[in-house]
Amino acid sequence: MNDHPTHCAAGNYPGSWYAATAPLIGAFPGLSGDISTDVCVIGGGYTGLSSALHLRQKGYDVVLLEAERIAWGASGRNGGHVGTGQRADQTSIEKWVGEEAAKGLWQLGLDAVQKVCDLINEHNIDCELGSGNLHLAAKPSHAPELQDELAHLESQYGYQQLTYLPPEAVAERTSAKGFHGGLLDDGCKHLHPLKYALGLARAASEAGVIIYEGTRGHPQADGQSGEVKTENGCVKARHIVIGCNAYLGNLVPRMAGNIMPINNFVIATSRLPSHLAPRINRDNLSMSDTLFVINYWKLSQDGRVIFGGGENYSSRFPRDIKAFVRPHMLNIYPELQDIDIDYGWGGAVGITLNRMPDFGRIGKHLWYAQGFSGHGVPTATMAGSLLADAIDGDTADFDLMASVPTQRFPGGTLLRWPGLVAGMLFYSLRDKLGR
Ligand SMILES: Cc1cc2nc3c(=O)[nH]c(=O)nc-3n(C[C@H](O)[C@H](O)[C@H](O)COP(=O)(O)OP(=O)(O)OC[C@H]3O[C@@H](n4cnc5c(N)ncnc54)[C@H](O)[C@@H]3O)c2cc1C
Repeated sequence: MNDHPTHCAAGNYPGSWYAATAPLIGAFPGLSGDISTDVCVIGGGYTGLSSALHLRQKGYDVVLLEAERIAWGASGRNGGHVGTGQRADQTSIEKWVGEEAAKGLWQLGLDAVQKVCDLINEHNIDCELGSGNLHLAAKPSHAPELQDELAHLESQYGYQQLTYLPPEAVAERTSAKGFHGGLLDDGCKHLHPLKYALGLARAASEAGVIIYEGTRGHPQADGQSGEVKTENGCVKARHIVIGCNAYLGNLVPRMAGNIMPINNFVIATSRLPSHLAPRINRDNLSMSDTLFVINYWKLSQDGRVIFGGGENYSSRFPRDIKAFVRPHMLNIYPELQDIDIDYGWGGAVGITLNRMPDFGRIGKHLWYAQGFSGHGVPTATMAGSLLADAIDGDTADFDLMASVPTQRFPGGTLLRWPGLVAGMLFYSLRDKLGR
């Protein structure tokens, strides 16, 4: 079983609507020779780019190695939803870490959304930033659960951005079929993920981060050496940050056993006729449902539906991704039956067992954050900033994130697949049952 699903030629971006519409920046060179720096960052997604930028702003010399192209991984392929809070629900988090730490984690989740907005403003990143998410109850029993969540977040966390919408109010905002109510969160944002990532790369490069593309880094897995070997050279650094998430493979086995890469898929329709776009999404919100295998969608600036739905747990993508995702979209919007699908692509999501990210240190030199479980646009961005703070000596928020107990997947790096596949299939089957 291959732990590193790729499905597009090395060095090229997958054929997504994002790659077709982002102003791709010229390729950075590959590393050739031996160099020294303060920090070597491995991985050019949000985690790596954000940590590199924040470290450089603190005065560190930073080298970033990306095996393919900047944001070639999930950061250039995702749904672009920027959700508030943490990926796990606050009630579970309270049980794991207690009420006080849970409040700290909730606040970090809000700060993460703000961090994304601040970076966009500070660096003039044109990435189609929009506001608001509507989370739709896919089963009757999910509607009261959404109301309970609102009550809990208002009373325990003072969060005032939520509105519960009964089905009639949902119907005013979207023609989506089959939902039993929804939770509108005005604190959420959405964006064009590849434009955002490339904007971060431009900002990091302009700040003085040295970026190498097409350069796979190999640190010593026990973190006891500051050397990162590459095919044609070596980087010597005091600190090494690993931001490879679902594309880690077995680079550092101790990290690999904490996450599982699963494949998730997205399509982009052709531009909608002008009467359809406001029916699908009157207020230009991001939308998602409450199923375990979540459906999520939004409109692009040029009037397409960008719809994510369906996942698989193998080393391969489906042969026809458009045909794989389209039925999920038509279940919700049958009126899109005659609309063409122009693009279909997939990427690997790094999930953890409890859906909370995995932050940690290994040996004297390695720092890492991974396992954002489909919530990485804000959380990986924030992780980069917390990694920079921690390397600079302020470990408080990094330690708070790291304090959530990490569970290793049963079977470790080699045998985790069979258990995961059985578990995922069980929950996705439950999605199809009533109530
Ligand atoms: C289809 C899909 C939809 C998603 N939708 C959402 C969403 O709507 N909202 C949300 O918040 N999150 C979403 N996510 C998750 C989110 O995209 C990720 O959590 C986030 O991008 C992770 O960022 P990262 O920098 O940690 O990893 P990545 O962006 O995956 O970057 C890792 C990089 O490391 C590189 N790499 C790997 N090994 C090496 C090595 N040895 N040397 C050098 N480079 C290496 C890879 O080439 C890759 O570019 C989605 C993910 C997918 C796949």
